[in-house]
Amino acid sequence: MLTNFSYVRPKSLKEAVKALASGGAGLHAGGTDLLGCLRDHVFDIKKMVSISGLKELEGIRTTADGGLRIGALTTITHVAESAFVKERYAGLAQAAEAVASPQLRNQGTIGGNLCQKPRCWYYRGEFRCLRKSGQKCFAVSGENQYHCILGGGPCFIVHPSDTAPALVALDASVRIVGPKGTRSVAVEKFHVLPGADARRETVLGPGEIVTEIVLPPAQGARSSYRKVRDRAAWDFALAGVALAIQLSGDVVSRARVVLSGAAPIPWRSLEAEQVLIGQKVDGTVASKAAEAALRNAQPLAQNGYKVPLFRGLIEEELAAITRTT
Ligand SMILES: Cc1cc2nc3c(=O)[nH]c(=O)nc-3n(C[C@H](O)[C@H](O)[C@H](O)COP(=O)(O)OP(=O)(O)OC[C@H]3O[C@@H](n4cnc5c(N)ncnc54)[C@H](O)[C@@H]3O)c2cc1C
Repeated sequence: MLTNFSYVRPKSLKEAVKALASGGAGLHAGGTDLLGCLRDHVFDIKKMVSISGLKELEGIRTTADGGLRIGALTTITHVAESAFVKERYAGLAQAAEAVASPQLRNQGTIGGNLCQKPRCWYYRGEFRCLRKSGQKCFAVSGENQYHCILGGGPCFIVHPSDTAPALVALDASVRIVGPKGTRSVAVEKFHVLPGADARRETVLGPGEIVTEIVLPPAQGARSSYRKVRDRAAWDFALAGVALAIQLSGDVVSRARVVLSGAAPIPWRSLEAEQVLIGQKVDGTVASKAAEAALRNAQPLAQNGYKVPLFRGLIEEELAAITRTT
């Protein structure tokens, strides 16, 4: 059962920021994640501030320089089906298409997808884990087959969003509005590693709202997203990779390799990118890049299978994205 809370639906962003400033307030966008968390008492709130009526936060617009602005309340379906996104930012369209089920994509927003809570079953269950002000991460000696292999400790969640790694690969940033004004943060810097703070997932401060996502011009870069899951229905990534590759002729001039299902944040592999830059991608180079991406992996007792899974996935996706015919 849900704990009682009050409900407000502000008519402007300014009102929403003000309403969120009080202690115990929680922001509601599409509600697909928030309501599950409240129902399961992952956390409770005293007041729900629904931004769902703020039309100015909906929609996809091109910018004068050829980039894109996506309002935080734009549904994931809208992102997946946008002809412009599909043409210029294929990796983002593919990531949006890979999210959950059609119903959840129709209701869930891109802002909510970036800010959703982790899916660790200890965090979501009746365990007072580190992320819920407890003293330990139960995954360390528990059921850890879905946990992270990179960037873990002292908590070992994996970041759940499919769109976030694609946005990191595309060098996107988020615009944030809050009590202290407006700021812009690269999506790459938006999520927080547990080593820095195990009790928050993002850099958002009290009362701050993501208002839009800004993508720079694609400049002809190819991008893709693929995830492997346990079953051919809705599910979170066991392993996923977002790529953005710029080719000069058939040589890689710019590369982004970002893993999902690997780490507590979308995991950019600078090691893999360094292998790719200046190279024509063949089987040997793809294999070296995949090897480099996993070099620092530290699997837990039950998730060692992710290492070869990621290797194969990265190799296959690099071959697919650099294919010239
Ligand atoms: C069964 C199921 C399967 C799923 N599978 C996948 C999957 O495969 N891949 C995937 O990526 N996701 C998956 N999800 C997560 C789903 O995509 C998210 O629930 C959805 O994107 C959240 O969007 P929302 O608008 O409903 O957010 P809400 O539920 O309204 O909010 C989620 C969280 O983000 C915060 N928030 C929302 N919007 C903002 C904003 N603009 N600024 C600041 N904070 C904000 C809220 O306060 C809340 O804490 C799944 C969810 C479910 C329930």
